[in-house]
Amino acid sequence: MRPAGQAPPRVLTVAGSDSGGGAGIQADLKTMLALGVHGMSVITAVTAQNSLGVQGAWELPVEAVRAQYRSVVDDIGVQAVKTGMLASAELVEAVAELISTTDAPVVVDPVGVSKHGDPLLAASALDSVRTRLLPVATVATPNLDEVVQLTGFEVASEADLRPAAEAVLAYGPRWVLIKGGHLPGEAVDLLTDGDQEFRLRAPRHDNRHTHGTGCTLASAVASGLAKGLPVPEAVTAAKEYVTGAIAHGFALGAGIGPVDHGW
Ligand code: PLP
Repeated sequence: MRPAGQAPPRVLTVAGSDSGGGAGIQADLKTMLALGVHGMSVITAVTAQNSLGVQGAWELPVEAVRAQYRSVVDDIGVQAVKTGMLASAELVEAVAELISTTDAPVVVDPVGVSKHGDPLLAASALDSVRTRLLPVATVATPNLDEVVQLTGFEVASEADLRPAAEAVLAYGPRWVLIKGGHLPGEAVDLLTDGDQEFRLRAPRHDNRHTHGTGCTLASAVASGLAKGLPVPEAVTAAKEYVTGAIAHGFALGAGIGPVDHGW
């Protein structure tokens, strides 16, 4: 524990709300609490969501997003930022502009589609993600579907991970973590800055209750960076955290339950 009264590192998530509490802002704040940092939120969109999928989604006005960001940054300050669901081109561009002024590391989870196939980003926003958001990322964390959406690059085996990472790096993030969890065989993620390369392997858990995995991983990376860890160490620790959270994912409702932050 920290000495009483000493402030923890501060981490800001800019993302959507999941009413079911499994992904989005709710997963981000749970991850941050579990990892001992102070979590703060800029809500970009509100979803009506449960274990069966997303029943509705409403974007907040750009003004409301800007105001939340300014309130947090101008007074409290941030030591890392994480972005998740940004919904529209207008919001992607506004958020990219806001975070371009921070010195804090930024983890961009380029959220496209939920596990149930519900769109969380308009197709018209993809170009803004490529040209405005990725260039201001310290670490981008696409999964294989997001790699295809962003670069057209299809990853069929582990050998494709490095060229796919190069295709994402071409848009300007300092590091990319490609999440290869859906590859056949062993689950392997690739982290690279184009120079150094790390392959992160984890035992595959036969657990379907994995809602919120991507949000949790990106928030754990941001929490590590806020504590001052270098990117490879922050990503390695985040991977360990999310692997435990997946192992303990639990059934809730009739569909896919959430990963667990209390293990
Ligand atoms: N809902 C929100 C608000 C999210 O940000 C995300 C993922 O980033 C999801 C749902 C999807 O979560 P999953 O794909 O783990 O079901």
